[in-house]
Amino acid sequence: MVGRLTVTASIVVVLAAAGAQSQEPGPFPAPKAEPAIVAPGKTSADPPSDAIVLFNGRDLSHWRGKDGGAAKWKVRDGYVEVAPGAGDITTTDKFGDVQLHIEWATPAVVKGEGQERGNSGVFLMDRYEVQVLDSYDNKTYFHGQAGSVYKQHAPLVNASRKPGEWQSYDIVFHAPRFDDQGKVIDRARVTVLHNGVLIQNNVEIYGLTYNDRPALYIAHSAEEPLHLQDHGNPVRYRNIWIRKL
Ligand code: MG
Repeated sequence: MVGRLTVTASIVVVLAAAGAQSQEPGPFPAPKAEPAIVAPGKTSADPPSDAIVLFNGRDLSHWRGKDGGAAKWKVRDGYVEVAPGAGDITTTDKFGDVQLHIEWATPAVVKGEGQERGNSGVFLMDRYEVQVLDSYDNKTYFHGQAGSVYKQHAPLVNASRKPGEWQSYDIVFHAPRFDDQGKVIDRARVTVLHNGVLIQNNVEIYGLTYNDRPALYIAHSAEEPLHLQDHGNPVRYRNIWIRKL
């Protein structure tokens, strides 16, 4: 009896092995295009060879100010600082799906509370805000703190550094798609790392954020500029680069 069981088990093993050998490596054809070669930056904060450097610490040639005029934020010592009252600054280039690296610092001298402390914002496609705020020991509504998709998604964790210290966002953004009638058929999605910590994990953006009604999509072009918010606080930015995906 024992011998017969052993024989049966052996046959099963042999058949299983034969089945494995007859399998193809996968059900899909192998990709035909070889991935392009990109020389990475010296560190992961430095722009790779295919990035567009939007701000290298010296000038605002890639940016314009309110009403399309010159960007009037202050450039010095390798960073640009919000000039309160000057308005948002907007890129001259337009983008759809992107990878974005941006570094920012809220004022070292802490002033104000909640949304009034170190507020700015990174607006993807001129519309969808990843919040910039001093969220170090500063309470506000959770979907309004640093790294939130403003009034839509709180960050997974609060990875904020102290006010005055440089912080980074690495953002992967998938632009929304609209049909011919302007109806959204594929919503925007965003992934954000704050100081290297994952805080938004491919979340769906619900559309434009309003204070008094639910978020809503209004059709726009496949590529739109990026803008940085003047919220009245002297927030600083440096080392801004972007890759079109
Ligand atoms: Mg803001």
